[in-house]
Formats: sequence, C-alpha cells, structure tokens
Amino acid sequence: MQHKPESTATDTGPWRDGSYVVATGSSRMPHRCIVCGAEVEAVRQTAVPLPQTVRATGPVGGLARGAVFLAAGERFTVVHGRCERHRVPWANYAGLIAGIAAVVVMLWFVGRLLARNGRFGVVEGTLCAAFVILIGAAIGFTFFTLRVAKTDGWHAWIGGFGRGFLATLPEWTGRSDQDITTEHSRLT
Ligand SMILES: [Zn+2]
Repeated sequence: MQHKPESTATDTGPWRDGSYVVATGSSRMPHRCIVCGAEVEAVRQTAVPLPQTVRATGPVGGLARGAVFLAAGERFTVVHGRCERHRVPWANYAGLIAGIAAVVVMLWFVGRLLARNGRFGVVEGTLCAAFVILIGAAIGFTFFTLRVAKTDGWHAWIGGFGRGFLATLPEWTGRSDQDITTEHSRLT
C-alpha cells in the first residue's frame, strides 16, 4: 500500500483535462469520491464501453494495440469510489426514468394517432413536446454518468467526474509518441 499523495503523481496518470479524467490501463485511480473528491475506503470497477466512432475509425493499429491495455477489449475499466454522501448515483436513476418515460410517451403518442386515424391535435402536440423534453433530460443526465468520450488508443478521456474529484488530479499536458511507446514496452 503506497502512501504517496495522488496529486504529485506521475507518469501513468490519471490526469485532468477540462471536465475529463485522462487515464490509461496502467493509471492508478485514487481512492476518492468521484463527485466531491473525498477520500473513500472502498472502490468499485465499472467497465465503460468505448465510443463507437473510435472503434470504427481509431488510429491504425492503435486500438488493436490499445486493447491490450484497455482492459476487457472494447471497454475501459474505470476504478471509482463514492463517499457516503454521494453513495447513490441519483443521476443514473433519473436518466433511466426519463428514458423510460420517453418511451411511454412515444407509445402513447403512436396509440393516439392510430386510434384517431392519424389526426394530430393538441394532445398529440403535447406528447411530442414531452417526448423531446424527456429525451433531452435522459441525454442530459448521462453527463453525470461515467463514459469514455474519446481515446487515442492509449489514453481514455472519461467524463462523469465531479469538480471536487478533478481538482485532485494533475493537469493533462499531452505526451509524445515516444513516451507512449516507452509506456507500451513497459507494459509488454
Ligand atoms: Zn462525495
């Protein structure tokens, strides 16, 4: 068990880049609450899927090689903690509920159109508006859940961390291919 402070880390990350955490497969995520940055005892692991666009158009060889350390293939394992106060991921539930409500509203809308032979009235308009709002809410809440926004095949930019957590990390400065190659040879 190391006791050196995370903020003085390191050549392996994680780092902070705007509202994202930049990490590699060898980054040691601090035992901190992902919302406020308070130290926590236990951490959990979540395998976050990599973005579709990266899978399709990633740098040649990059993702294939990256998959070696991007644990679990096309997912990136994020180690994260939550303090007692932020134990319940409300945003996840709220996003899920908004998503389900959007589907219900959509079915209701389709049902009414069928029942009324496609006549579009005030209720239909209201349902359409509600659908748009609910979908917007569902998408909005995903900004509070862990997600990989992009990757260069070596580093993953992970969104969903709070300011308190981000403040504990050193600034991302970008690194040269040389550094990355060195890191890779260390890993293999
Ligand atoms: Zn917290």
